[in-house]
Amino acid sequence: MDIPLSASMTTNVDYRRKLLALKELEAKVKQARDELRSRKKEYEKTEDDLKSFQSSGQIVGEVLSQLDDGRVLVKASSGPRYVVGCRSKIPREKLTSGTRVVLDITTLTIMRPLPREVDPVVYNMLQEDPGNVSYSAVGGLSDQIRDLRESIELPLMNPELFLRVGIKPPKGVLLYGPPGTGKTLLARAIASNIDANFLKVVSSAIVDKYIGESARMIREMFNYARDHQPCIIFMDEIDAIGGARLSEGTSSDREVQRTLMELLNQLDGFDQLDKVKIIMATNRPDTLDSALLRPGRLDRKIEIPLPNEQSRMEILKIHAAGIAKHGEIDYEAIVRLAEGFNGADLRNICTEAGMFAIRAERDYVVQEDFMKAVRKLNDAKKLESRAHYNFGKEQ
Ligand code: ATP
Repeated sequence: MDIPLSASMTTNVDYRRKLLALKELEAKVKQARDELRSRKKEYEKTEDDLKSFQSSGQIVGEVLSQLDDGRVLVKASSGPRYVVGCRSKIPREKLTSGTRVVLDITTLTIMRPLPREVDPVVYNMLQEDPGNVSYSAVGGLSDQIRDLRESIELPLMNPELFLRVGIKPPKGVLLYGPPGTGKTLLARAIASNIDANFLKVVSSAIVDKYIGESARMIREMFNYARDHQPCIIFMDEIDAIGGARLSEGTSSDREVQRTLMELLNQLDGFDQLDKVKIIMATNRPDTLDSALLRPGRLDRKIEIPLPNEQSRMEILKIHAAGIAKHGEIDYEAIVRLAEGFNGADLRNICTEAGMFAIRAERDYVVQEDFMKAVRKLNDAKKLESRAHYNFGKEQ
């Protein structure tokens, strides 16, 4: 049975319904307003994007010289030369000849200087991380470390010592000796122990097949070093370009010779007091051109010999330090068997000993593993030298 509503109850229900509708409407208005705001933002962003698309680019140029009236003679990258003005904010002393600058496209005013263009190959040399090698990770070469630090580190860090005595600090050092004796390791140790830029080049990698390219690379490398002092240039396997020059040869020989001449030229070009030092490394010092070796270019030659028994022990201990060992290890007995081993071989003994331990399902190495490893490497070396001998006889 329907119960009739009183008049006041009807108005109450009506009122609530209207209130609900009003709230819904308010929510819709708020939503619409939010949407409008986000659309506005989107619109503004698109407008900005459009503007930046439409804004004019800038020209790259090179400063040729500064004129007396404060104007500057520049050469645009497209070729023509202009006399242009310069923004007052830019310090004049920065605009030396050869500096790359940005020019406004309409007025050609110099807007800002640009950093020197770095050749990608030189950039890659810089990216080579010397790693974190401390001097204590180099075994048995304490005299060589002292010599190298005296020739490279001292002039870079305390040039006034040389000035006071009145001698010219060495420009470069040659590290020579048999393979695997730690030449690269030594260069890495010096690079990670002083706060200097480090350019590492494997010399064979800069010999390019295009005429003049390798010499340009050498120039770029030295330019970079001069701009980023203090800097150490490490040239590994220098015999690839530093070989003695012959009177005749193929065109590729001549390209290598041109590269060497550019290297000599660059070595002469910089001042002794510049904070650029060169370290070169080779296994074949006998093949090097005498011009490269003369004092004033490579002032010091440091021999890195095969390690003697004492040095072998030091190197072995360095590499065995991180290995899980069990029981007493008689290092003396191991190195006595390792006659004629170089640093790399000694590191290999540790790896091989570890492999024997793994094969025996142990997670530590014992003396016997080391002895087995050294015997195995000794046999391998004997085989290698016999093959070498036979190969020589066949020829
Ligand atoms: P190459 O002339 O063939 O380039 P290199 O003399 O530059 O040889 P490195 O590359 O320095 O030899 O040595 C190879 C590895 O041998 C090093 O990474 C290091 O682990 C080990 N090694 C060589 N000599 C030593 C040393 N004196 N002390 C510690 N480790 C050494």
